[in-house]
Amino acid sequence: MTARRIDGQRIAAELRAGIAAETAELTAANGIVPGLAAVLVGDNPASAVYVRNKAKACPTAGMNSSVHRLPADTTQGRLLEVVAALNADPSVSGILVQLPLPGQIDESAIIRAIDPAKDVDCFHPENLGLLAAGQPRFLPCTPYGVVRMLERECIETRGKNVVIVGRSNIVGKPLALMMMQKRTASNPAGGDATVTVAHSGTKDLSGLLRTADIIVAAVGIAGFVKPDMVAPGAVVVDVGINRVGDKLVGDVDAGVWEVASAMTPVPGGVGPMTITMLLHNTLAAARTMAPNPRIS
Ligand code: NAD
Repeated sequence: MTARRIDGQRIAAELRAGIAAETAELTAANGIVPGLAAVLVGDNPASAVYVRNKAKACPTAGMNSSVHRLPADTTQGRLLEVVAALNADPSVSGILVQLPLPGQIDESAIIRAIDPAKDVDCFHPENLGLLAAGQPRFLPCTPYGVVRMLERECIETRGKNVVIVGRSNIVGKPLALMMMQKRTASNPAGGDATVTVAHSGTKDLSGLLRTADIIVAAVGIAGFVKPDMVAPGAVVVDVGINRVGDKLVGDVDAGVWEVASAMTPVPGGVGPMTITMLLHNTLAAARTMAPNPRIS
């Protein structure tokens, strides 16, 4: 068996066309142009690439973007001032502070300083709390990208055994919340799945993964999920982005293509979906500034 390739690039392009159309409608009706402000502290090359890609995507959807570059020795106080200015700026609908931050800055203090209504990454505790309660204001971009991708590929999660490898606040934990939640009209991203979260303390990971209908790998170790850990016909979503030499590879070994029924490639899988859902959230944030706000 060779797995069907889930083309994140194509799905992301289709979704972005819809977001661009909705943005144009909002701008025509209310004169509001959604604006994303990205804050980059220091010179981490991977962070610089992520921020550049996010900023570049905005004009393609009819949105404004600004990048606020600060030196690596920026103090926490200075960064809090920048965040406060962006909170107060009506032309800014969404704020993202690219992580990781340099060691002298307390990341959680910065995340808590972002206006929750502009927290398009969905990292603020208020937004994570709303997500946990099944009443999300925003959905975090990478998990939301995974969910939308499965939906577009008509891969049903309801009643399925989903095993997520990784429990980070950015990927594994919020994805588990979304996948386990009841799907309702107000929470359409609820997966109705039976979810297990595996992590560095998990025993017999191979045995656990072989029980999965759907595996999501978010570990950060190249080729971590091997073919003998995957049940024939399982769906495999590879969130990992790892640099090996001059190549980007995922967390799933290439041999899994011969065992799974469908799988996401790296690159061209979850990555483009993450940026697309950031645009979606920025549009949703901008809508709340319209006279008759509507978040879709
Ligand atoms: P992280 O380092 O915060 O978390 C990694 C998780 O893997 C941890 O929860 C840890 O418990 C688990 N883990 C580590 N070793 C393990 C083991 N031996 N067995 C089981 N679990 C183990 O990473 P993250 O921020 O969640 O990112 C994970 C990967 O996803 C990285 O490669 C990252 O670059 C990538 N990523 C991709 C996107 C995207 O848009 N495609 C977005 C975010 C992160």
